[in-house]
Amino acid sequence: MEVLERADELARNGTEVIHLEVGEPDFPTPKAVVEAGMEALRRGRTKYTPSVGHAPLREAIAAFYQREYGVEVSPEQVVVTAGTSPALLLSLAALLEPGDEVLLPNPHYACYPNFLRFLGAVPRFFPLEAREGYLYDPQRIASQMGPRTKAVLVNSPANPTGAVLPPENLAALAELGLFLISDEIYHGLTYGVRSPTVLEFTDRAFVLNGFSKRYAMTGWRLGWVIAPREFLRPLRIMAQNFFISPADFVQWAGLAALQQGEPEVARMVAEYDRRRRFLLGRLREIGFGVEYEPQGAFYILADARRWSRDSLSLAHRLLEEAHVGVTPGVDFGSRAEGFLRFSYANSLENIAEGLRRIEAWLQRQSLLPEPPSCGAGCSSS
Ligand code: PMP
Repeated sequence: MEVLERADELARNGTEVIHLEVGEPDFPTPKAVVEAGMEALRRGRTKYTPSVGHAPLREAIAAFYQREYGVEVSPEQVVVTAGTSPALLLSLAALLEPGDEVLLPNPHYACYPNFLRFLGAVPRFFPLEAREGYLYDPQRIASQMGPRTKAVLVNSPANPTGAVLPPENLAALAELGLFLISDEIYHGLTYGVRSPTVLEFTDRAFVLNGFSKRYAMTGWRLGWVIAPREFLRPLRIMAQNFFISPADFVQWAGLAALQQGEPEVARMVAEYDRRRRFLLGRLREIGFGVEYEPQGAFYILADARRWSRDSLSLAHRLLEEAHVGVTPGVDFGSRAEGFLRFSYANSLENIAEGLRRIEAWLQRQSLLPEPPSCGAGCSSS
């Protein structure tokens, strides 16, 4: 966010920055969804709703689990929230007592440890390795379990690695006997692989998802959690007290996304995939290390340690001197230090231009060889 704010400042002063730090789709929200939202406003859908969301939306979300994964979810287990972030906050608050521990991967989405510490819970990190496909090692996790360990936080497809955990890995995690808190917000954005829900393997899970990424609806603020039955009452009570309800008209837009959004999602996924392959090729060509080819979300975590072990200052220099925004790996945990996260939620042209600038910057710093100078007959411009 700091990089983004500084990029905005530069833009106000007339510098055109290429944004490869963004964590939100560059596509507009699908038309049918916008129409449904506007129609809901016209119909006066501007009131409080049940705290856990409108019944038709909860039913559509339950039906989504049947359709996508062949998993039976009761609409009663669905709590609709103003985004995945509140769903995560409510779930952790319902599950954890101060002093409880949660095991989470390193690297991980930057906000997870902050949620835990805010609730007085303790994050314990287990390492992920690019060369192992960022799989979660169940034995390693088991060795870190103690009497206060309540849950494992799962995120697949993952931010910042783009890694997708295969079914066997999720099945092994389910066997640990801990609760799984599964952030499935990047489901739907995968390239040639399937991302199973943890509900295919266990009921002892809080499954978080939302409309932000799959349906390009970040600013609408709509998400949900599927929770075990014994937690539904505390979730409902907290939702009532803290938020009263998610926005009324937004829920009708969400219903349209679930019912009519898939063709548009398929188009977006095809375009993300083109960009993913292009970005991957260019990063490697320039000399970044990318050991794992991401299969989901819209990020590539690239190793920049041959140039700098301080990702924050490298990101700042790329912004100030090359006018390209990237996210410093250190935001995602100690194991991503020295890495940069590139987002491909930007047009192919912008990605190409951003990488051209980075390559030229590295050449100016003498960190890369100069391009061959052109021979006789080529223009000096
Ligand atoms: N989880 C992950 C892994 C994310 O990357 C994000 C958004 N960057 C969120 C949750 C929050 O999403 P939402 O907009 O639904 O609150």
